Amino acid sequence: MRDEFGDYGIDTITNFKNPKRIRLTVACVYLESYFANSDRGMVAKAIQVLDEHKIELDVFPGFGTKTAWNTLPNTTEPIADTNDAYKAIYKAAKAKIRQMGCGFVIPLPVIFGEFVHRGYGIAPKVPGELTRLCMISATGNSDQMDFLHEIGHAAGLGHEKNDSHPRNFMHQASPRTTIYKYQIEAFAKAPFSVG
Ligand SMILES: [Zn+2]
Repeated sequence: MRDEFGDYGIDTITNFKNPKRIRLTVACVYLESYFANSDRGMVAKAIQVLDEHKIELDVFPGFGTKTAWNTLPNTTEPIADTNDAYKAIYKAAKAKIRQMGCGFVIPLPVIFGEFVHRGYGIAPKVPGELTRLCMISATGNSDQMDFLHEIGHAAGLGHEKNDSHPRNFMHQASPRTTIYKYQIEAFAKAPFSVG
């Protein structure tokens, strides 16, 4: 199968460890529209799952609970499904992340908030930016894998459509538990990875 993220063959290796320890840098902000008060444990889950594959997910501290410090003001409306809206919120998130004191060189911004596009999470490409915009809704799958799924898109991964057992983290079923070798290799080459 092929989608906008590319064409992938079947890979059955689910215990692959990256040969060299890679660090991924991520920073999270909240929008006022996000109607839960925490990340629902999704970030801790992603850290734990990636660690099993020798990938360190380094998330700028203070992400777990929605507070005035990490929430963008005047963001009660869901983000429209347009390039201009994605661009504006991406820039606002980057500025907020800097203001919070994040020193990562190219962090992936992940925004917990509501949006018009359907789905529990989205990862639109913002024209002119190196990383994708990841957005996570307060409504999500109970497997806590929505966050990891969206940063998978940001690493260039598409949906795993060849898999007859829909347990891969890039599937849309739930619960999802596995990561294939080619997917770990994609994380290692992501624009937000630090060697
Ligand atoms: Zn997806």
